[in-house]
Amino acid sequence: MKAHNRSSQTIRDYDNKYYMHPWEGMDSFGQADRTISASAEGIYVYDEHGNRLIDGPGGMWCTQIGYGRRDMADAIADQVMRLSYHSPWNTASEPPAVLAKKLADLAPGGLNNVFFTTGGSTAVDTAIRYMHFYNNRLGRPNKKTVISRDKAYHGSTFLSASVTGRDRGKNFLDVDRERVHLLPDVNPLIRPEGMSLDDWCAAKVKDLEDAIVALGPDSVGAFIAEPILASGGVIIPPNGYHKGCMEVCRKYDVLYISDEVVTGFGRLGHWFASKDVFDIEPDMITCAKGLTSGYLPLGACLINDRIVDPISGPDQEGVMFNNGYTYSGHPVACAAALKNIEIMETEKILEHVREISPYFLERLHSLRDEPMVGDTRGIGLVGCVQGKVTGDGDSYALDQQFGAKVDEKCEEMGLIVRPMANMCVFSPPLIITKTQIDDMFDILREAIRQVA
Ligand code: PLP
Repeated sequence: MKAHNRSSQTIRDYDNKYYMHPWEGMDSFGQADRTISASAEGIYVYDEHGNRLIDGPGGMWCTQIGYGRRDMADAIADQVMRLSYHSPWNTASEPPAVLAKKLADLAPGGLNNVFFTTGGSTAVDTAIRYMHFYNNRLGRPNKKTVISRDKAYHGSTFLSASVTGRDRGKNFLDVDRERVHLLPDVNPLIRPEGMSLDDWCAAKVKDLEDAIVALGPDSVGAFIAEPILASGGVIIPPNGYHKGCMEVCRKYDVLYISDEVVTGFGRLGHWFASKDVFDIEPDMITCAKGLTSGYLPLGACLINDRIVDPISGPDQEGVMFNNGYTYSGHPVACAAALKNIEIMETEKILEHVREISPYFLERLHSLRDEPMVGDTRGIGLVGCVQGKVTGDGDSYALDQQFGAKVDEKCEEMGLIVRPMANMCVFSPPLIITKTQIDDMFDILREAIRQVA
C-alpha cells in the first residue's frame, strides 16, 4: 500500500508550520522532527519508510481491537450513508439509543443513564456539571468542591484540567483550584519504610475522610478517581482503597466519580474495572478511548439511578441540565462503538485479556533484573517500567531522561513506547498475542541494556 499521497517532506513541513499538536512544547514548536505514521494494521503501525512498529501504548491507551478492521470500516460507512448526523436536542436515532442501552447493560448496577460526549475530558466535565446540577436541585448549592488526587489525569478542558492532579504546565494555564482539593500521592512505593500495604491503604482512605471533614461535608460534592492512575505513572492503589473511599463518600453524602477513560472496555479484562476489579458501584463512570477502539471520537458519562431518580420529575423552575454538545450521541461514532463492542464480544476479547495478562505481567516484572530498572508495575494489559531510583522514596523527579532514551532505542528496533519522564508505559492493543508480547519485551530489554 502506498504510504501517503504527499511526500514525507510536504507532510512534515505542513505539520510543523500549521499543526499545533496537543501537549506541544513551545520550545520545539515548528521544528519537531516527528515520525510520520503512514498506516496501521492489527497491533502494528507503519511509518513513512514502511518500518513496522509494535504499538506499545495502544495509540493513547485506546486501540483495543487493533487497527484497520474492514468490519469497522463497513459499519462506519453504512451509518454515514444511512444518517450521518442528526440533532441530539430534539430528535432520536438508532445508534445512540441502542448504544445507551448496551452501556447500561454492561455497566454495574444502577448506572443506567448515559450522557454522550466527544471524549474523556468532556465526559469528566459532564460528571462534574451533573454533580453541580444535582446539588442545586437538592437545594444545597454550596456542596460543589471536588476532591481529586495528586498525579491524577482527568482531561484538558478547563473543568477537567482543574480536577487534574498532574501539574504539567499548570503555571501557564489557569485552572480553578478554589473548589478543588488534591489528596497526596497514593503510590504504595512511597510509603514509609516498614509500613504494611494495609496500613498504607488505611492512611490513604483516611486522607480522603480528613479532607472531607476539614473542608466541611456540606461543601464537598464529589470525589473523582481513576481506578488506577494511568498517565500519572500506572499507580495501582493498595487492595481495598477504592472500597474504603466509597464508604467514606457514602458516609458524607459525597458522589463518587470513577474515571474509567483508560480502564474501561477491556483494559483490565472487564467492561468496567470499578465493579469487577475494585468492587465498587460508583455514582458516575466516565469513559471514552476504548469505547470505539479509537476509530472515532466518543465519550460517555454513565450516571447512577440513585442520583438521577431523586431529581427526576417536575421542577417548579423548569431547570434543564444545561450541558450538551453538537456531537453528543453522534450516530456515526455510536455505530462505531456498537460494532467495536460487538467485535469484543464475538471475539471474546475480555476473556483473552484475562488469559494473556498474567504472561504480559510476568514478562514485565522479569525486567526487574536489569540494573537500570527501579520498578515495574502493571495490571491487566497496562504496564510501566520505571528507571532506577536512588534516594528515599518520592522517586519521580529522578533520571527524567530514562523514558525518552529507552523510547528512542525501542523505535529503532520496532517498538513504540510511551515515555514519561523516568518511566515507559505500555497499554498495547488488547488483541496482542503471546508471541507479540515476547517481541515487545525482547525489544524493551535490549533497549534498556543499550541505554545503560
Ligand atoms: N481521563 C483519563 C483517566 C484519561 O487518561 C484521559 C486522557 O488520557 C482523559 C480523562 C481525557 O480524555 P480525552 O483526551 O479523550 O479528552
